[in-house]
Amino acid sequence: MVVKDDELPYLRRCVELAAEALESGDEPFGSVLVAADGTVLAEDHNRVASGDRTRHPEFELARWAAARLSPADRASATVYTSGEHCPMCAAAHAWVGLGRIVYVASSEQLASWLTELGVPAPPVRTLPVSEVAPGVTVDGPVPGLTEEIRELHRRFHRPRA
Ligand SMILES: [Zn+2]
Repeated sequence: MVVKDDELPYLRRCVELAAEALESGDEPFGSVLVAADGTVLAEDHNRVASGDRTRHPEFELARWAAARLSPADRASATVYTSGEHCPMCAAAHAWVGLGRIVYVASSEQLASWLTELGVPAPPVRTLPVSEVAPGVTVDGPVPGLTEEIRELHRRFHRPRA
């Protein structure tokens, strides 16, 4: 599938949420859960500054969907996100039976940016969603917005640079 122009507002909202996360001392990631009819159901940003490093927005949205949506509504929903799901979140997304994923920046892009910034490798291997959850339709990256996400990560890891 391709990312349509009318989907860009959801992706822009993900970038805004990522910026909000950065302002509150969290890593800049944001995600939005959208129903089949285009209604925004839920949104969240990264909250790992609490000390719980599993507080990724995609994981939060998977739990939100499991608690509140029917299996059919989960399957027809889309998760828009500033950065491609990590393996933990891709697994949660698939276990809960959510539908398509659209991301601004890929995990591969993020990994290369963080390497450039000298950030140590994460404790969980970087894998594309397609390797963790092969049944999920995934679209991205979205070139018009990736530079904004890159800049947010630069500001998080090099706040005074
Ligand atoms: Zn994650």
